[in-house]
Amino acid sequence: MLAYQKRLQDSQWWPAEQLLEHQLRELARLVAHAWRTVPFHGARLAAAGLEPGRPIDLERWQRLAPLTRRDIQQAGGDLESTAVPAEHGKILTTRSSGSTGTPVTVRGTIFDAVVGKALMLRHCLWHPYDFAAKFASIRRVHGGTYDYPHGLHLDRWGDSATFPFATGPSSILSIGASIAQQAEWLLREDPDYLMTFPSNVRFLAAHCRERGIVFPHLEHVTTFGEVLSAGTREECRRAWDLSVIDVYSAQEVGIVALQCPAHEHYHVQAETMFVEVVDERGEPCRPGQTGRVLVTPLNNYAMPVLRYEIGDWAELDGPCPCGRGLAVLKRILGRERNALLVAPTGERYWPAFGTRKLPELAPIVQHQFVQKSLQRIEARLVTARPLTRREERALRAYILANLPYRFELDFTYFDELPRNDAGKFEDFVCEATG
Ligand SMILES: [Zn+2]
Repeated sequence: MLAYQKRLQDSQWWPAEQLLEHQLRELARLVAHAWRTVPFHGARLAAAGLEPGRPIDLERWQRLAPLTRRDIQQAGGDLESTAVPAEHGKILTTRSSGSTGTPVTVRGTIFDAVVGKALMLRHCLWHPYDFAAKFASIRRVHGGTYDYPHGLHLDRWGDSATFPFATGPSSILSIGASIAQQAEWLLREDPDYLMTFPSNVRFLAAHCRERGIVFPHLEHVTTFGEVLSAGTREECRRAWDLSVIDVYSAQEVGIVALQCPAHEHYHVQAETMFVEVVDERGEPCRPGQTGRVLVTPLNNYAMPVLRYEIGDWAELDGPCPCGRGLAVLKRILGRERNALLVAPTGERYWPAFGTRKLPELAPIVQHQFVQKSLQRIEARLVTARPLTRREERALRAYILANLPYRFELDFTYFDELPRNDAGKFEDFVCEATG
């Protein structure tokens, strides 16, 4: 773990050409592995002319069709390697529904997870963290031990694989707490650092600004799991005069890019992730041009995802003045939720419906929740086949158990879920006023 961190310490200063060379070598190894052991990829790689045992030709690579969430859903086990190298360790499973409302299951390995932890530590080393200070996070966690009013208290920041040295204490609160409860909890906890989702901190900051709530020791806010908007940075400045440090990550692939230590833009984590930004014709974007983000995690040998269309947009920029050779994403656009769930009591909640578990209960292809009134929620579903009454009952019980109030819940079924006026898909929409 520390040896890997030492390598990252060195490689961040490699020139861009050296990093690209490293990436192409890693990519060639991954492609050879995928060709031989992943049924889904074999034919696709052959069609693009990417035979194993040859250096990666980027023009051919760009012919490889991007992998969508729907592809992952439909491919099922065909995307899993039939021969994961033993040195990559045990296979781990991650479920994600993302803000596209399309739940997927992704497999990774222990090695892949360790790489993710190393990147998390890199984030902490890049930014002004005092490891003896107190760290608080508000996120999606399961089990009552994280619930308001107490949350969970630990005597260190996280596991010793991520932080292989002594740290100060940390506390974790489930994001199931209302915005007002989160503010009250933070006042009691009085942390030095806070980590949560961008949309959650935006609503929390607005709540605090309206009521004049400040946290005396809070030094900065770290965000992850969604795309951070300029508006959220601004809201944190206005409410608390604090800056935000963002980690660009997605549950299914891990950390993609980290905010530069010296600027508000991002450095692609090129040692572990091959990131492409392409225009609508699939051609690579030039600096200054915004395009779709495609990511290829270089270390996932359990379920290689090649050119995965993460669902966000980004703008590439030229080299960073900080001197790091890691490519720069000037801004990232996408995935930030823009509404809260409102209970009849007026309390407001970050919308958490337990969506990651839904595919275990019924064959759900896509979901969207619409709050129609203070009492009523509509669950819009696209399903692989009509659900049985029993499945619908199980879904209803599970969703209601995740919600802070006994809402009326209606199910409606669609072939395709509607987008908003701007053509964007939202996994949660609030039409209630109050
Ligand atoms: Zn930089």
